[in-house]
Amino acid sequence: MQPLIGIGTNHLIRPSDHFDDNYVDYTQKNYVASVTAAGGLPLLLPIGDPQTAAAYIEHVDGLLLTGGQDVTPSLYGAEPEPVNQLNDLARDQFEQALIKAAIAAHKPILGICRGLQIINATLGGTNLQDIASHVNNAIAHNQYPTAWATPTHGITTTPNSRMQAVWGDHGQVNSFHHQAVQQPAPGLTVTATATDGVIEAVEDVTRQLVAVQFHPEMMAATDSHAAAIFSGFVTAATH
Ligand code: MN
Repeated sequence: MQPLIGIGTNHLIRPSDHFDDNYVDYTQKNYVASVTAAGGLPLLLPIGDPQTAAAYIEHVDGLLLTGGQDVTPSLYGAEPEPVNQLNDLARDQFEQALIKAAIAAHKPILGICRGLQIINATLGGTNLQDIASHVNNAIAHNQYPTAWATPTHGITTTPNSRMQAVWGDHGQVNSFHHQAVQQPAPGLTVTATATDGVIEAVEDVTRQLVAVQFHPEMMAATDSHAAAIFSGFVTAATH
C-alpha cells in the first residue's frame, strides 16, 4: 500500500491578479512531485478549523509541513520585531493542531523551512525573527532569485543523525529563508548547521520527526540527497 501523505497547504488571503478575491488554497507542485517520486500518495490538507486536524491525521500515514509565512512570534513568547514579515495565525493554529495530532497518533512528520519553524514553536522552542539582524557574520540565507534547485551554502551534519546518513558529514543545500530556529524545542536534536551556526536541520527519533531549513522538494529532481529525505519520510510512513 502506498502511504497517504497529508501536505499542509497555504492560502491566498488578498486579491491577486489571477484569482481576484476568489481565494484559493494551494501548495507548490514540487512538494507533491517529491512525495509522489518517493512512492507516497500526496493529499492536500486545506487550512481549516484546528478542531478538525485530528480527523485529517486519522486518514493519513504521514504529515508534510511546507514553507511559507513567518510563524507568529507570540506562539514562541516573543513580540514581533520590525524585521518580522507576514504572519498568518489561521495557518499557524491549524498546523499546530496537525503536529500535535500526528505526534499523538505516532505518525511521522517532515517539516520544511517554515515547517521546521512551526514544529519548533509548537514543541516549545523559539525562532530567530531575522538571521541578518541577529547572527554575527551571517552568510546569505535568502538566495532569491537564484534558481530554486541550486545549492548555495554548505551544511555540516551531526554524527549518527538521519541528516548524516543522507548527506554524509558535509553537504550543499539551497537557501530561501530569513528566519531560523533560535532555541530548539525540548527533544529536538540539531542535525545540521550552516557555517555561521544557523540551524539547518533537527530531528527527534522517538517522535519520528525530521525537519530541515532548506528546500529538498526543490532539489529532489536533481539531487539524490534531497530525494533521500523524501524516501526516508515515505518509508517511515509505510506500514
Ligand atoms: Mn540556509
